[in-house]
Amino acid sequence: MKALSDIGLVGLAVMGENLVLNMESKGFTVTAYNRSAEKVEKFLSGRAAGKNIRGASDVKDLVASLEKPRKVMLMVKAGQPVDDMIEQLVPHLEDGDIIIDGGNTHFPDTIRRAKALEPKGIHFVGSGVSGGEEGALKGPSIMPGGSQHAWQAVKPIFQAISAKVDDGSPCCDYVGQDGAGHFVKMVHNGIEYGDMQLICEAYQVMKELLGLSADEMHQVFAEWNNTELDSYLVEITRDILAYKDEDGAPLVDKILDTAGQKGTGKWTGVSALELGVPLTLIGEAVFARCLSAQKAERVEASQVLNGPAVSFDGDKKQLIEDLRQALLGAKIVSYAQGYVLMREAAKEYNWDLNYGGIALMWRGGCIIRSAFLGDIKAAYDANPELTNLMVAPYFKEKLEAAQAGWRRVVAAAVTNGVPAPALTSALSYFDGYRSARLPANLLQAQRDYFGAHTYERTDRERGEFFHTNWTGRG
Ligand code: NAP
Repeated sequence: MKALSDIGLVGLAVMGENLVLNMESKGFTVTAYNRSAEKVEKFLSGRAAGKNIRGASDVKDLVASLEKPRKVMLMVKAGQPVDDMIEQLVPHLEDGDIIIDGGNTHFPDTIRRAKALEPKGIHFVGSGVSGGEEGALKGPSIMPGGSQHAWQAVKPIFQAISAKVDDGSPCCDYVGQDGAGHFVKMVHNGIEYGDMQLICEAYQVMKELLGLSADEMHQVFAEWNNTELDSYLVEITRDILAYKDEDGAPLVDKILDTAGQKGTGKWTGVSALELGVPLTLIGEAVFARCLSAQKAERVEASQVLNGPAVSFDGDKKQLIEDLRQALLGAKIVSYAQGYVLMREAAKEYNWDLNYGGIALMWRGGCIIRSAFLGDIKAAYDANPELTNLMVAPYFKEKLEAAQAGWRRVVAAAVTNGVPAPALTSALSYFDGYRSARLPANLLQAQRDYFGAHTYERTDRERGEFFHTNWTGRG
């Protein structure tokens, strides 16, 4: 084993242990440390035995075992534990050393920590890591933000351990300054909420409106996975639908319909509201989980509130293809909205975001990995200044081809009272975005009527404001 380790890792829970093993398998020597010392012992005598992994009994020991500039990666619970560990590490570190937070940290915390560490000469990298336990071991998607100097130092390790796409490119590249990495990871999670909700709505339309069985839907998702919808989430949905409980019935039918959430979708929605970005699809996906959680109320309301009788006598095969188109169209909207959010955040927080690189980082290793992200990368490579993904030639063509089927799906769902909030609101966003004129003229008149908020006129220069005494009363 080398006299000094290439990197230290703090936090030997599922993610941390697997990242250490991943780093070691790529030829790096790692020092592992955990607040509760018994986990270090257990790791060293278990999964880490015989490998280039050393343990540290305390923070001083950890720092002393590292090659300079020292690199310490935190994989601890997000929040106060990250501040606690930074506080313990700082007295032992020196100018040029690097602390990396690889947890699911809310990006404002990363901005705050980077600012606080800068005057001490310590570089801080806030890095999103996606792919769960297995990804951490075999190749996650890694989204690092921080100073360029720190990025150059961690790049060889991060790119070696990350997932790779077909041509061997790593799913890890520099995202941008301070909190940019954690922001992009947050948007990733928001998009994950959206992709999952869209798939669930397609499932519900097939189940409620077409009366398809889990086995039949398994077939549909298997076929969809050979199209532009090829993705990890469609793949696991296919497998879930085929999975049988001990009695031979589909397990999915026995799962309680109340969704949990850990808050990253909410953060994405809140950030969109703060930045004034219409992130409708992810918003609907978060709210759909909230509505699902109101199970008792829904059960009660189902006895009180009546809707239309569900009936479909059209061409089932056609509606399934329409659903595929609807899913594709809405997915384009979701990514378009997510990218607009990142663009606005880049302006607000002075980040120089690498948009094509972000698509590549999401292309493999993470939960939203899909073939589709290769097309997003191509769109941003062709035009890094793209205002909205929907107007990129490839996606414009896909949206135009998808919209007829997508509209039929939304119409059928609405007519039959099958809820499809994300598919529906995505279509409204598409229609709103392509409308040169929206009804906000009337809205401005209303605001002026009750609050004298003034309005601009279409027949005058922009920036000239008018007020009308709408009632004629003084
Ligand atoms: P976790 O359950 O989030 O955290 C457990 C680790 O945090 C343990 O090593 C624990 O040490 C340490 N810890 C807690 N409070 C501490 C404190 N005050 N000071 C020092 N250490 C403290 O572990 P995880 O699931 O492996 O996740 C690690 C990070 O990665 C989290 O931010 C998580 O959100 C993120 N993440 C997780 C996944 C996933 O699939 N699990 C995926 C991506 C990202 P003790 O053993 O001493 O309690």
